[in-house]
Amino acid sequence: MANTVDNITSRRLTVDAVKIFGRQIICKYSVQGDWQKIFNFGVEFFIEYSENISRTPKDIAVIPFLCNVLSIAWIFDAEIVVDELDYDFYKHVAEIKEGYIKMYPRIKFGGKLTAGVLVRHDYEVSDNTAAFFSGGADSFDTLIAHVEEHPTLVTLLGSDVRLNDRKGWERVSRHALDTVQKFGCKNLFIASSFRLFINEGLLHGLVMPLANDGWWSGFQHGIGIISHIAPYVYLHKLKRIYIASSYTAKYNVTCASDPTIDNHVHIGKCVTIHDGYEFSRQDKIRRICDFKRRTGLPIQLRVCWKSSGGENCCACGKCYQAICHILAEGENPADFGFPSYSLEKLRQDFQKPGFMNRIVINLWQNIQDRFREHPKNLPDGLAWLMDIKFS
Ligand SMILES: [Zn+2]
Repeated sequence: MANTVDNITSRRLTVDAVKIFGRQIICKYSVQGDWQKIFNFGVEFFIEYSENISRTPKDIAVIPFLCNVLSIAWIFDAEIVVDELDYDFYKHVAEIKEGYIKMYPRIKFGGKLTAGVLVRHDYEVSDNTAAFFSGGADSFDTLIAHVEEHPTLVTLLGSDVRLNDRKGWERVSRHALDTVQKFGCKNLFIASSFRLFINEGLLHGLVMPLANDGWWSGFQHGIGIISHIAPYVYLHKLKRIYIASSYTAKYNVTCASDPTIDNHVHIGKCVTIHDGYEFSRQDKIRRICDFKRRTGLPIQLRVCWKSSGGENCCACGKCYQAICHILAEGENPADFGFPSYSLEKLRQDFQKPGFMNRIVINLWQNIQDRFREHPKNLPDGLAWLMDIKFS
């Protein structure tokens, strides 16, 4: 990999300007050295918020950009140079890096971050919190775990839903607005070019042989997403932000969003919590079902990335898992946003190549275990699932 060349001074990224106006941040930067090909200079790094963020200082506004180039600089042994940076963020960068080092022992993480002025923000934090919200089981579990805090729900366009996916964004944002209304929370929408200003395909190809994981899933999406909230954190003096875990402590899976990385993101006086890591997906669905029974609040999960009509398709891997998790808790999937599904079609799709992989096998095992604990919840049409031997 590129980091076998050890002349760090040959690779540098300089943040030339952080432009903040109205609801937008644009970062201008220049790159020296042989790693220029990683950057897609045709696409500006911009972020747009659903509220005015113009009073954000530059040392805070630059954090989202930094969090999307830091890991690139580390694997290319490059220097990042920035004029001003939040002291608290800077102080914890080494811990974030340590998380990556431990996760990927076969990759050398070099490079450095040079900040001209470190700015301390010694304000009193408010009681306000925020949680990233995509609408799936993980983010719903985090919402109900902290529902009494009425966290601001933050939904980001440009991550799983691509910037140009207008239809996808329509349904994601409608679902988010619907949820904040039902749960008495505020919401923040953010749109960002953070997946487009770099050459993701090239990065993916570089890290895959050593990490056995891709750029987005294994390196970018944790701090790359979390950092987008920086202006809002500063302006509302948030004390905590939550990002829902996708995986659980029990399984050893590499993932850019991991407590060893996310929990070290400090923005001003605000800390980040990688939330729900102690729970499996089945545990989370159980907690969601309990919450619904206890409060009577309607919960519509949105787990599907395949459907374009606004509903869960009820016939893809993610939909099938959610449906079976809910059945295993003795509830009706139709009450959670899965109106029509066929267990016979699931049985057929289950046999197809590609349906099972190393990530989802644990989820299906958990479903099977839960049905074993509560056999009365097992529908006749799913009896075959209990004969599957996962190994
Ligand atoms: Zn689906």
